[in-house]
Amino acid sequence: MAILQFDVNGEQVSREAGVRARDLVRLPPQTLAVWVNGQTLDVDRPLTEGGQLQFLTFADSAGRHVFRHSSAHLLAQAVKRLWPEAKLGTGPALEDGFYYDIWLPEPLTEADLPRIEAAMRDIVRENLAIERLELSREEALALFHDRGESFKEEIIARIPDDAVISAYRQGEFVDLCSGPHLPETGLIGALRLTQVSGAYWRGNEKNPMMTRIYGTSFPDQESLERYLAQIEEAKLRDHRKLGAQLDLFTFREEAPGFVFWHAKGHAVYRTLEEFSRRLQARHGYQEVATPWVYRVGLWERSGHWDHYRDNLFLIDRDDELQGLKPMNCPGHCLLFKGATRSYRDLPWRLAEYSPLSRYERSGALHGLMRVRGFHQDDAHLFVRPDQIREEMFGVLDLVDIVYRTFEMPYEVVLSTRPDDYMGELALWERAEQELEEVLRARGLKYQINPKDGAFYGPKLDVYAVDSLGRRWQCATAQLDFQLPEKFELEYVDQDGLAKRPVMIHRAILGSIERFLGILVEHYKGAFPPWLAPVQVRILPITDKQLDYARHIERLLSERGVRVEVDERNQKIGYKIREAQLAKVPEMLVVGGRDQDNQTVSLRSREDGDRGAIALTQYVSQVVDRIRMPGFTD
Ligand SMILES: [Zn+2]
Ligand SMILES: [Zn+2]
Repeated sequence: MAILQFDVNGEQVSREAGVRARDLVRLPPQTLAVWVNGQTLDVDRPLTEGGQLQFLTFADSAGRHVFRHSSAHLLAQAVKRLWPEAKLGTGPALEDGFYYDIWLPEPLTEADLPRIEAAMRDIVRENLAIERLELSREEALALFHDRGESFKEEIIARIPDDAVISAYRQGEFVDLCSGPHLPETGLIGALRLTQVSGAYWRGNEKNPMMTRIYGTSFPDQESLERYLAQIEEAKLRDHRKLGAQLDLFTFREEAPGFVFWHAKGHAVYRTLEEFSRRLQARHGYQEVATPWVYRVGLWERSGHWDHYRDNLFLIDRDDELQGLKPMNCPGHCLLFKGATRSYRDLPWRLAEYSPLSRYERSGALHGLMRVRGFHQDDAHLFVRPDQIREEMFGVLDLVDIVYRTFEMPYEVVLSTRPDDYMGELALWERAEQELEEVLRARGLKYQINPKDGAFYGPKLDVYAVDSLGRRWQCATAQLDFQLPEKFELEYVDQDGLAKRPVMIHRAILGSIERFLGILVEHYKGAFPPWLAPVQVRILPITDKQLDYARHIERLLSERGVRVEVDERNQKIGYKIREAQLAKVPEMLVVGGRDQDNQTVSLRSREDGDRGAIALTQYVSQVVDRIRMPGFTD
């Protein structure tokens, strides 16, 4: 028997091939599955190759995935116990839960969910072992035929000849599945079924209608309850709702997926863009603007025509196809090619904020989070291979400044070389090593997604954590060894020879539209003063103070404050409530005495009544409070 070598969290272990992960070392508590050389496996799966091995828990996204997928099996088993004539479709894990599509003679309703939950809890209590079976095609067909699972038979018929067919058994229940799964059902400590809907088998309306049951699950009740409370809070913060309420933006059916920015929303948008623009200028970026319509030949050269055609907006004019740009990279490559570049010109950092268009299915559109027309704080860095390290360090500087400004902690994921990589192996290895060194040098907590990089280069993804603890993938820095090849980009090196630069695609906010949507939810619409659409609202107590109010408005507006006067003939209590609902950071109540004494009575959104203050003093103070963070003017 072959001897395999394992590296288990730095400890070297050697065992015979076929050993189970659970027998290698003492299984840490709450282990859900193992990760061996980039593959997630059951803890009971006999191992056939050595290498890096990690135990996955609920804290790992791969661990959660196994947990939720096993929860889907649990759901299917419970439904089969209650309705033996049910036929199973498929049941995947989702980011925050799972679902299962099941055919039933009578579709289920939400009233059935508590009964199913109770049956699921029974199976958890039984703590059934979950066992993997590997079957020949004939065995698999016979097994699922006997069980009346016609949809599973259909799936088996589509499995390629050379693929391993596997199933997972727990108690009386068997599901066709490639796995991996939890070792036993008892690990699913808390669960909740959330929703029932209909879905056609394989998404085709000619097929039977299945009942889709959604749910979520956690290792313990406390985590489940925290999650459910977070969902309720997220509904209150929904940026589409707050966007309309705060008069920031709307969507209309005349232009699906494109944003109508109202004056207030656009003020926030422009401030956010300006913040990014000033920060990048300070960090040595040059801002350019390139065309947004290109002849199709460019998209063929860049590879978008082969890989991205379905998402391109195309225009057919003068018997020629042209496409709206979904990204800026090819335009920046053309700029690079426009002159002879020397090693001294590098790094060359180009930033661009122009409009981008990507076709998304109308069902995929979601407020500002998923649109068809958007803008990015996009940049491309053309660098020599020896500059990758320093430039990535600089990119992470920007990430840190930006996410600190919004008080969002962040996590970094490094995705490494996939099997179908292109380019020089040595360059890949060096670049990956340098990326890790940069992450360590910055003291960043990071996770590695092995083999998850694009075929053209490794990348860093940054996940920002909002005030509800939700993770949003925003910033990204992608190394690209291929696009410079496709565009035959060259610079003259110190030795006089022509060399290929490496390209780094990077965005810090990502889509500005989407980032704004995230901020609306993160702040629950109460933007910090520098970002607020209206920073100061003046509330005259009677019409007699209107002129004084307009005088203050002029003074503030001249100093760059976004200010408005509530001129309505309403009681002051009503005006204060309205300003509070509009989440205006500062309110100035002005009455007769304020006018006589040239004062204002300040109310802050957070702290309420702050008392009277001399107008001149207020003006100089508020300018400090609305200043863009990190800038002195
Ligand atoms: Zn499964
Ligand atoms: Zn790019």
